[in-house]
Amino acid sequence: MFVKKSQKELEDHANIQPTYGSRTMREEIPKYELPDEGMPPTAAYNIIHDELALDGNSRLNLATFVTTWMEPEARQLMTETFDKNMIDKDEYPQTAEIELRCVNILSRLWSSPEGEEAVGCSTIGSSEAAMLAGMALKRKWKHRMQAAGKPTDKPNFIMGRNVQVCWEKFCNYWEVEPRFVMAEGNSFNLRPEDAIELCDENTIGVLAIMGSTFDGSYEPVAELNAALDAFYEKSGLDIPIHVDAASGGFVAPFLQPELMWDFRVPRVKSINVSGHKYGLVYPGVGWAIWRDKKELPEELIFHCDYLGGDLPNFALNFSRPGNQVIAQYYNFLRLGLDGYTAIQETCREIALFLSSNIAKIGPFELISKGDTIPVFAWKLKDHFADTANFSLFDLAERLRYNGWLVPAYRMPENRKDLIVQRIVVKEGFSRDMAGALLADIQKHVQWFADHPGFNRTMEGKQFSH
Ligand SMILES: *Cc1c(COP(=O)(O)O)cnc(C)c1O
Repeated sequence: MFVKKSQKELEDHANIQPTYGSRTMREEIPKYELPDEGMPPTAAYNIIHDELALDGNSRLNLATFVTTWMEPEARQLMTETFDKNMIDKDEYPQTAEIELRCVNILSRLWSSPEGEEAVGCSTIGSSEAAMLAGMALKRKWKHRMQAAGKPTDKPNFIMGRNVQVCWEKFCNYWEVEPRFVMAEGNSFNLRPEDAIELCDENTIGVLAIMGSTFDGSYEPVAELNAALDAFYEKSGLDIPIHVDAASGGFVAPFLQPELMWDFRVPRVKSINVSGHKYGLVYPGVGWAIWRDKKELPEELIFHCDYLGGDLPNFALNFSRPGNQVIAQYYNFLRLGLDGYTAIQETCREIALFLSSNIAKIGPFELISKGDTIPVFAWKLKDHFADTANFSLFDLAERLRYNGWLVPAYRMPENRKDLIVQRIVVKEGFSRDMAGALLADIQKHVQWFADHPGFNRTMEGKQFSH
């Protein structure tokens, strides 16, 4: 004899239920408090998966510098190593060894000179690397001042107003006065002669950016070095440079190998890079490298015993995923110099294709064309900007209808009147997709022309660099 199962009993057998026929799919999900009861894994998966469909499509996100495509083998390796905690060097000595190999590979890629002993570490991104490098500069400066019997309560750090927000954070969190070289006319970056004007004995260092987030341009590291040399001759103040190569650190060695910006430049004491930008790894991994171990005050380093050896540790975080470091090493092995060069060249070609064609549409003028890092920005032509019935904020908004995320934003303080729009070309963005984007831009420009009554908006969404 068989007894008919109750509805309740059936529902308890969640895995025989049609996914979208279950109770969980009919009821409202508690969003801001822990639910009393759990739900079947397929239900939880689908609810969250579906909600995330409302996010932008990362492959059409031309706003971000961060990697949105990796090879399936890299993805597999990362999935296999999600459980590795980077800090457990004792338990995962090979993961630690791989981090060390990456530090070596990067310091050689950045021309670490023979006779100097480069040191470095992985981080969660360039921001953490910036905090570490900034701290090392501040502590070195403090030692210099103490040795001279001078006060150490007013450190300052010099940078262009185009800095990424991590440097303002560094100055705020570590109580260092930021001194900015302001944008002037069409000069949006740090100008060495103006940076020197801001230097004094309390200057912990000067920052140079390889790949400004505003327009992709490189700041003149070698010229800054020469200006600081001349300043030293005059003042006796020996001021170091830190290079924020968040994106350029993985582009310049492949596309502009002759450009002097790295450890070939004597005053460059430390460099940061984001492994998750042109290092081509999913977020988040970054790197900080010092040209010589004497640039990193010993007292900042914590030592842990490791298989009878000594494993120095310099980081803000303790636990951190190890799989991104492993993925970085995968890229180094898989791609080599050839592979990185081929990918970055492809990105540059596509950036140049897009920028030259955007310039031809009519209303636009390029701020940069994408021949440094494959990032470029444009504005409305000056005579047109005041009379146009659309702003770049409107164009950005309409491109969203097609799924494209192409941000418009204002240039830094002093040039906030200037609205620009930017495209970051990354691995995974083909010439074919670029053609489709170009067609959409042309279509929307035509739409604005066909709707003279359209009223432009002059405020965009908050966009932080
Ligand atoms: C992206 C970026 C940063 C911040 O890097 P994260 O890896 O996102 O923390 C800092 N500086 C520059 C120039 C950048 O492009």
